[in-house]
Order: sequence, then C-alpha cells, then structure tokens
Amino acid sequence: MKKSVFSYCVMLLAVLSLTLAACGGGGPSKTEEPNKKEGVTNTTSQPAEAVDKSGPEYTAHWICPMHCKGSGSEQAGNCPTCGMEYKLNPNHHH
Ligand SMILES: [Zn+2]
Ligand SMILES: [Zn+2]
Repeated sequence: MKKSVFSYCVMLLAVLSLTLAACGGGGPSKTEEPNKKEGVTNTTSQPAEAVDKSGPEYTAHWICPMHCKGSGSEQAGNCPTCGMEYKLNPNHHH
C-alpha cells in the first residue's frame, strides 16, 4: 500500500517535471520581431531616372509650361498635348 502510493507520487512528480521540461525546454520563447525592411514606398508613377531636359519641350523658343512630350515650337501657340499656351523659353538662345 505504502509502496504503491510512493510510486504514484514518483510518477506524478515525473509527469510534472516532464510537463515543466516540455514547457520550458524550448528555451526562451520570445517573440522575435521580423526585421522590418525599410521598404521603398516611392514606387509610384515617377521612375528614378533624371528628367531629360534636352528635348524641344525644354529647349524650344516657345515651350509648354508643363514641358509635355512633343511640345515646343519656334512660334507661339498651344501645346498639342495639354492645350496650354506656350510661354517664351528664357533659356532659349539663337
Ligand atoms: Zn527660337
Ligand atoms: Zn503641355
């Protein structure tokens, strides 16, 4: 009788220690923060390339204020792309 109670206690202790070991056995289970990559959020419409200012939309005598592609003329007029009135290009030299 006494022996069986003793063995029961030993078994209980063993189970308890096993449970404790199982709980703490995996080492400190701290939640690791995932490395936050500083994502490039600037991936909208503008590509990273520099603005090409060698075209006639920048160098012509008369240019669109918006520098639209295909705009620019030796005569005053309106931009065929956006319809704005050409303005004199101060950087234009003959
Ligand atoms: Zn000119
Ligand atoms: Zn324009």
